[in-house]
Formats: sequence, structure tokens, C-alpha cells
Amino acid sequence: MAKATGTRAAASSKTGDTGAARKTRDAAETEKIRVALVERRDELQAEYDTSITELTELQRDRLEDSAGDDQADTGTKTFEREQEITLANNLLERITQVERAIDRLGEGNYGWCERCGNAIPVERLAAFPSATLCVSCKQLEERR
Ligand SMILES: [Zn+2]
Repeated sequence: MAKATGTRAAASSKTGDTGAARKTRDAAETEKIRVALVERRDELQAEYDTSITELTELQRDRLEDSAGDDQADTGTKTFEREQEITLANNLLERITQVERAIDRLGEGNYGWCERCGNAIPVERLAAFPSATLCVSCKQLEERR
């Protein structure tokens, strides 16, 4: 429990902070976030490429041997293909989110909680690049 107390103490130590001073991260921390985001983007890009390859294969299978398929086979293949398309679209959406995050990071307005204005921890941003709330605000939102 000592950890939670420490966090709360740090969060409430606003005395003497000006708004402007609060809205800065040091360069090393910004760089850490950038590296984490770029890594995440590359991972997603690799998954997306795999997904597109599989889609192409499914498409080719469908064209090559659909003549011999019964209806159940065709149905399964259509389903597989639709699932793969959904997956690819999700990945593309996540890649876009990460790229947007990288852009905003460059502008200096990324990684701040939209609700309380505190800095969102680097670890959280690395895990959820599209996070716009800090952990405590996120929990508050979920409880509503
Ligand atoms: Zn917050």
C-alpha cells in the first residue's frame, strides 16, 4: 500500500506549479515515448502485412478451387475471408492511431490526460498508444 500513498502524494504536490511548467516533459521522456510508439507501429505494420498476405492467399484459393467446393466449403471460406478483412481493417485503424500519436507527440500535445491534465505515464502510452486519459481518470470513466 506504500506505493499507492506515494502516487497520491506526488499527484497532489501541485504547490507552486504553474500551468505552463506542468505541460512539459523532458526530452528523454519524449524520446522514450517516441521509441515506444514507433516500435508499436512497426509491430502493427508487420501484423498487417501478414494479414494482407493471408487475405491474398484466401482470395487465390477461392478463385482456384471454388469450382469443386460444395456450399459449406464456400461458406467457410467466405467467413474466413471476412474475418481476415475485419482483422486487417482493425490493424490499419490502430496503425493510424499510433501515427497520429507520433504526430501529436511532435507537436507537444500528446500524452496528457484529457480529464485532469496530468502527464500519462510512458508505460501506459506504450501499451495503449491511443490513451487519452490517465489510469485514475480512466477508472473513474469506467465506473460511471
Ligand atoms: Zn487524468
